[in-house]
This record gives sequence, C-alpha cells and structure tokens, in this order.
Amino acid sequence: MESIAAQRIPYSEIRVMFDAAKKLEQQGRDIIHLEIGRPDFNTPEHIVEAAIKALREGKHHYSPNAGILELRQAIAKKCSDEYQLEYNPDSEIVVTNGVAEGVYLAMHALLNPGDQVLIPDPAWVNYNPVALTNFVEPVGYPLDAKNNFQPDPDVIEDKISSRTKMIVLISPSNPTGAVTGREVLEKIAHLANKYNLAVLSDEIYEKIIYPPSEHVCLATLEGMKNRTLVLNGFSKYYSMTGWRLGYVLGPEKLINPILRYHQYMITSTNTFAQWGAIAALKGDQGPSEAMLNEFHIRRDYFYDAIIQIPGFSCTKPEGAFYLFPSVKETGMDGYQMANKLLEKAGVATVAGECFGKNGAGCIRLSYANSLENLKSAVSRIDKTMRDK
Ligand code: PLP
Repeated sequence: MESIAAQRIPYSEIRVMFDAAKKLEQQGRDIIHLEIGRPDFNTPEHIVEAAIKALREGKHHYSPNAGILELRQAIAKKCSDEYQLEYNPDSEIVVTNGVAEGVYLAMHALLNPGDQVLIPDPAWVNYNPVALTNFVEPVGYPLDAKNNFQPDPDVIEDKISSRTKMIVLISPSNPTGAVTGREVLEKIAHLANKYNLAVLSDEIYEKIIYPPSEHVCLATLEGMKNRTLVLNGFSKYYSMTGWRLGYVLGPEKLINPILRYHQYMITSTNTFAQWGAIAALKGDQGPSEAMLNEFHIRRDYFYDAIIQIPGFSCTKPEGAFYLFPSVKETGMDGYQMANKLLEKAGVATVAGECFGKNGAGCIRLSYANSLENLKSAVSRIDKTMRDK
C-alpha cells in the first residue's frame, strides 16, 4: 500500500551511494568517505554538558510547541545582535526538527497543490521531493559554474508564472559551496516584491564561510522581512546533526500556519536537546571557530589539489564544506565518475545528478574529513585518473 504522494518520491539517490560504499567496506575495502554532509567534529563539550545537566535536572517533558521560551529568546537575540533583525519570540520563531522539518513545514503549510516553487538546480536534495509530496511543482532555476554558481535574476524572472508562489534560496550552497552575493540577492528580492512571492532562505551554512565572502541574511534586504522565512539550525556550525534542531523565522502571518502544522506533526522538539542549543548560542564560540578554521585550511588544500587532477575543473567554493568539480572533460557523467572512484580508488563521493539535472557531469566531494584522509583521497583519485 502506498499513497499517491509517496509514489511521487524516489528512494534517496544519495543513499544508494552510501549503501554501495558500506557494502564495499563490509567486504574489507578501505573507503575514504567524501560523500558525507556533516562536520566530522563532535559537538562542543559545553553543549553536551548543558543537555546532560537538563536531563539531570528533570527537564524530561514536552516543551511548548514552538520550543522553550529561553531558546526562542536566545535565537531572537542572535538575530538582533548579528543582523539588527527583531523577531518576536512569542509569534515569529518556531524551533524545528532540523532545517529538514522547516522545509517540509514551509512547503506544506504555505503552498497548495498546483502552485509552483522555484528551486536552485543543483540544490540540497530535500527541496524537490518535499514539494512533490504536496503536489507543488518544483521549477528549477539553473546555477552554472561559468557564472560561479550564482543565480541569474533574469533567468529566474523568466521562470516566474501566475502559479509561482515561492522562491528557495540556499546560500552558502550545498552542493556548490557558492555564496550568493549581495547584488544578486537584491535583484532577487526585487523580483519577490514585484511578483508578491514568499522566499524560503536556507541559511544553515551562514557561518561556514571564508573571508572575504560575507553572509547576507535575506530578511535584512528591503521589503523582505515580511515575506521571508529564514531556515537555520544547529547541525553544521555547532556540529549537532544528530540532535535534530533547527528553527524557522518569519512574520507572524507565515509562522502561524507553520506552527499549527508543526503541532500535529511532531508536537515539539526534544527538550533537553533544546537546552543544549541554548548553550550553543550563549556559550563559548571557540570550538566552532576552531572547526571553521580547520575547514578553511582544508578548503584551500583540497581545492588546489583537486584542480590538478586530469579532467577535473572546479570553481573555488566560498562557504560550506564541499567541492563540486565538473568531470565532463573525462567523458564521464557524475554517476560513472562516482562509481569509478568508489570501485577503483576506494573514495566515496556523490554524483552531481543527485542534486538536479544541472548538476550532471559533476561530483560532490565533502572536505568534512581529516587533512590526512583528504591527502590520501587526492593521491588515490589522481592515480585512478592517470591509470589507463
Ligand atoms: N539545508 C542544507 C542546504 C543542507 O545541506 C542540509 C544538510 O546537509 C540541511 C539543510 C539539513 O539541515 P538539518 O540537519 O538542520 O535538517
């Protein structure tokens, strides 16, 4: 038995690659995992301690649906301190089960079957399937390496129809690592205002960004706070992927339906994890800064090394922890290359096709792995590509 909505979504193609890598490992092969989309650091100790303390203090019960007030207040303070954006903790913030839930809530609580949503192509894999489960039509807008993977506002405008209700923006981007510049964002904001569109701005990698690039929070642009849902969370910068905590910020008129949907979906997120998240926002930022520094060193090494490999070409990512090289010059598509690297080099990657049709002929390599492993992956990939 399967619903019509479920029939519209495939088994995650990324999972297919994970499963293939796991199978080889079970056969005794040594695999270097560059397919992973999570920091390879543990959650900082003071965050872990805060969650343990909450458990010991008996914080074992449901929290308010929108999240514990202290956490919503800490999130509001972060936005005010960093972006001079004021969100009311009582009505404009919902703590979610990761950004993943935020995406689901936005697509289901705000859009109707038959609506269209503009989604970057390539993009993190959740957006298209989640739209499809609500019979919303995902319309891709291309991001091209030639253009440093920046969205082209003219192309976006061409894709807007009377059915378009929302634009998704992801900056810094998974899978490309590109950071969308202020000027481009302003043009897109202008389109959102002109065509009365909601904007879903995924800013989960906001702080994983390498100078001189800077993050621009979309809601700070003119006319945008009232039509933007900012998605953010704790998974990446605080290395808390398994804690499943994120949040949605927006005007009350958009947050209210989202909160009602969230109430019946998951009630509230894990209470003691939320106490950990408060420590993340209020406590020592040193461990996260050290992690970022390490990603920066790896980015510089890995980018310089990967562009030396025959047939690989790549734009330099300015954020997140991925490289997204094109391998088209080798004559292979992303799947063929990912399979070859897995089988011959023992290096697990993800085919660019998994992120959208515009990702064809690319592979995604994550540098959320030790410098030592990255060096050995480079030498294995290089050897594989030079062997006839
Ligand atoms: N948004 C983007 C762009 C991502 O790349 C990812 C994870 O890879 C997520 C959201 C997931 O965030 P969360 O763990 O908060 O669900």
